Amino acid sequence: MTLISTFHFVHIMEQRLEYRIFTYSTYLKNKFGKRVFRVGLSTGIPCPHRTMTGGCIFCNAETFTGEYQAFGNSVRVQLDEAIPRIKDSCGDVALMAYFQDETSTAGSIDLLEKKFKQALSHPEIIGIIVSTRPDYISQAVIELLNSFNVPLTIEIGLQSIHNRSLEFLRRNHTFEEVDKAIELCGRAGLNVGVHLIIGIPGETFENMRQTIKYITSNQYIKQVKFHNLVVYRNTELAKLALDGNLDLLTIPNYIEILANLLPDLRGDVVVSRLFTSNIRHSQIALGEFPGNKTKWMNNLRKYIYKNGIIQGSETAVKYDAGKYFKSTSGIIS
Ligand code: SF4
Repeated sequence: MTLISTFHFVHIMEQRLEYRIFTYSTYLKNKFGKRVFRVGLSTGIPCPHRTMTGGCIFCNAETFTGEYQAFGNSVRVQLDEAIPRIKDSCGDVALMAYFQDETSTAGSIDLLEKKFKQALSHPEIIGIIVSTRPDYISQAVIELLNSFNVPLTIEIGLQSIHNRSLEFLRRNHTFEEVDKAIELCGRAGLNVGVHLIIGIPGETFENMRQTIKYITSNQYIKQVKFHNLVVYRNTELAKLALDGNLDLLTIPNYIEILANLLPDLRGDVVVSRLFTSNIRHSQIALGEFPGNKTKWMNNLRKYIYKNGIIQGSETAVKYDAGKYFKSTSGIIS
């Protein structure tokens, strides 16, 4: 390597996304002192919103379960199949049970307790993440989750603070209901994360910014997952998109918008996801997703550095990478 290319290499290595955004891996390493992975699990209970009211406009259930999570597989079987694969590829990592699919708090409390306890009784599992809708959060669910006394996050689908967007997405709940559910969980001491979709058709940049500002102002929200809207086959969204009536973001547009929203996101909110994970390309009805997530992350990183963006710089809590990394001097300014 020549002197110039060595300098270039070091310079690139120093421009880490983690120095500008409070990423999930930074949060986990800081909290647990080692790398932590999530094991995706299913309760096996189909989402009632989909089975009873047709579901969200973008939802295609075939896109969110891994093979090992097939209906009928017990939580223990799912873990026994998934964990060796994770350990083989990632080495010695700690593991969190992640009930991600469907609506993971739908079902009787007894059944949920059984499923969650099956996960937590596995010797490799150190905590639990449960993803759900606001209308399936009750006092009983909160008490159940609080009774486990392990690292735990409840993730709630917020998507947007704009009710016209929630109606468009056919979420079948209002923003006010999500806000109430977040408060209920937060007041009970649960660690709350929210899911957001960036690029809901009809939303302006200012609309998205208002949603980010809501998160910043809400003391109970500790984590956020950003998603790009993917148009899957056999969805209502695909029908609309194929009629040509929708304004959909390309990946470069998404990156630019996401990056420019970050200054308004409080610097101590953990960004647990930047792009929709595990896109099922075989199920895509419309839209191009050139490259892969590594490339998108790299493009986001470049955009952020080029434009001097730091999470939370427009809020009272700017992200402080110096708390988590020793060698950031001269990079964060
Ligand atoms: S709440 Fe989730 S699982 Fe249920 S229909 Fe909507 S996207 Fe699908």
